[in-house]
Amino acid sequence: MEVRVNQIEKRSWIEINISQLKENFLRYKKSLKRNAKIMAVIKADAYGHGDVQVARMLSEMGVNLFAVSNIDEAVGLREAGIRGEILILGYSSPTYIPTLHKYDLTQTLVSEEYAATLASANMPIKCQFAIDSGMNRIGLNGKNAEACAQIIRSYCGQLNITGIFTHLCVADSELESDVEFTRSQILTFKRVADLVEDLNLQYVHCCNSAGGLLHLNEGDEFDKIGQIVRLGIVLYGLKPDITNTIPEGIKPAMTWRSVISMVKDVPVGDTIGYGRTFRVAHPMRIATVTTGYADGLNRHLSNRGFVMINGQKAPIVGRVCMDQTLVDVTNIPNVKMGDRVTIIGQNGDLYYSADDMAQDLGTIGYEIICNITKRVQRFYVNSNNNL
Ligand SMILES: *Cc1c(COP(=O)(O)O)cnc(C)c1O
Repeated sequence: MEVRVNQIEKRSWIEINISQLKENFLRYKKSLKRNAKIMAVIKADAYGHGDVQVARMLSEMGVNLFAVSNIDEAVGLREAGIRGEILILGYSSPTYIPTLHKYDLTQTLVSEEYAATLASANMPIKCQFAIDSGMNRIGLNGKNAEACAQIIRSYCGQLNITGIFTHLCVADSELESDVEFTRSQILTFKRVADLVEDLNLQYVHCCNSAGGLLHLNEGDEFDKIGQIVRLGIVLYGLKPDITNTIPEGIKPAMTWRSVISMVKDVPVGDTIGYGRTFRVAHPMRIATVTTGYADGLNRHLSNRGFVMINGQKAPIVGRVCMDQTLVDVTNIPNVKMGDRVTIIGQNGDLYYSADDMAQDLGTIGYEIICNITKRVQRFYVNSNNNL
């Protein structure tokens, strides 16, 4: 029999505040300038938050549109009993055409060539055409709206075309030139949407979190293409770009914690950790934290980052190891075995978010939360305890 230990006190674990996720969803929805529907983007295990749990919570709140990155994520949701539309945002091998059909999934058509391949299977797969409005990643070339319309039309008999969408690549920037580029993307997409209006496609969408926050306006250009917003990062309480202001009350739902396995005094002249990169210049008290880079704690935080213990910062000393990290607790009294450590979240009066860590690492909050690995067990709680 498999023995699983389900108490929250782990070597390294995450607490997901479900109430906060709900709050984020409601506040985001309320902030939208028009009454758009939400397609919840729960790819990459809901940005590390657990896709099945997040989908269940959202289903209870009435959400019936979901987006994921690949067929495994989509099948996993169906097998967990998630209903509604599940859009796969990227390529699935044509090998899986029967799987797409069996699980009633919606496949993105990344190109005309790909559409032709899926169509040749003679199965009425649900599909949405991606329209490339300037990102040059996937989709039909939106610059030629007539050709796009013709292609979309030509596959309607062979596939079950339920929608079209585009993706905005600088919607999170408020620089004038970027705002202008986003406007051009929106107009490019709108031209295509207008040309296929008679098809009455059910799902026509273009906004990600940032698009919904910063661009979805009252103008009639959004009447048809702004009915659905694909909400990702803001659902989880992070910012699309660090310069953005997100609606009041939206906060990160994730807290990452660990514990201390031992504390020791280290004399002057010793070194700490692999590569001996840290030399002890004054007597130090060092604590061992049971989280490492195999848990997703970025190794670039070696000798740079910190964790939080008893409401104080404990600097990381030496290199982050695979499963453990050494921190300086010389100035934090009474640290002992078993004490809780906060890596991301609230600890006493200190608060350090994935967005903050991203700033320290020169990346984005998205990458921080997606990189926390599977062995860090997720727990679902209804409030942030403050330890
Ligand atoms: C990931 C993704 C989103 C969600 O983006 P956020 O910035 O997290 O809101 C929306 N649309 C597509 C096509 C995506 O790939």
